[in-house]
Amino acid sequence: MTEVIRSAAALRDRVAAWKRSGMLVGVVPTMGALHDGHLSLARAARGQSDRVIVTIFVNPMQFNNPEDLKKYPRTEAHDLALLEAEKVDVLFAPGPDEVYPEGFATKVSVAGVSAPMEGAFRPGHFDGVATVVTKLFGMTQAGRAFFGEKDWQQVQVVTRLVRDLNIPIRIIPCPTIREEDGLAMSSRNVRLTAAERKVAPALHATMQAAAEAIRGGAEPGVELAEARAAILAAGFSSVEYLDLRDAATLETVQTLGRPARMLVAAVLGEVRLIDNIAV
Ligand code: AMP
Repeated sequence: MTEVIRSAAALRDRVAAWKRSGMLVGVVPTMGALHDGHLSLARAARGQSDRVIVTIFVNPMQFNNPEDLKKYPRTEAHDLALLEAEKVDVLFAPGPDEVYPEGFATKVSVAGVSAPMEGAFRPGHFDGVATVVTKLFGMTQAGRAFFGEKDWQQVQVVTRLVRDLNIPIRIIPCPTIREEDGLAMSSRNVRLTAAERKVAPALHATMQAAAEAIRGGAEPGVELAEARAAILAAGFSSVEYLDLRDAATLETVQTLGRPARMLVAAVLGEVRLIDNIAV
């Protein structure tokens, strides 16, 4: 049985009992509307920890767009059934007042890796992520945290954060889970119309082709410009960024040397999609 816990105090008691018997606790932070991407993290956590906590909290602080927050899908009863099937021990689903009680005044802000891409196009987003993740790590006292590579920049921000603040938790990045046609799974995909859903896989396919060309020696700048045009031609209304960056520092790279990552954010209909792949 997956136990649903909504207060930080009750969670602390539960975790303290586990830790007294020497158990390793794994946490998977999510915003709910769970899909196979999230469940792959729960499975990784199950395999690498004695007890698994999945958190569901639609964190208002990380939404720079109020409309996006309002429309974010919320499906807790269904989510709970999925977590039961994965043998998750605890679903921690606090309300906004439990996370941000009256008088809350602290913000965690990571410089550097937070600045470009998502940081530039969604001002305040990573402050919201860093703040809530710090709180969730404090509330769960977990020894391992599982994050999806789907949000590559987020993984780098969280990794930096735990190093900088000496938070005793290991960050475990897990591969992006995709639909059969290559579209990265996302809770926002349900907001695509049927016609847009057909266009959406062009994002990954175009990046794959560009990455292959760059690996084969093509000029990154030229390939990225062509890929950007191809994404627009496929039916996306805008490409916010399509960059080739150092996989860890997220600095722009002009030529391949160290591990690099191609990252994109593009808008299709009313939905903003992000993705990234190794180059
Ligand atoms: P979210 O609920 O969108 O905040 O995502 C919660 C966690 O699930 C984050 O660590 C995401 O990176 C991860 N995640 C979301 N989509 C996928 C996916 N398609 N494959 C792997 N992990 C994912």
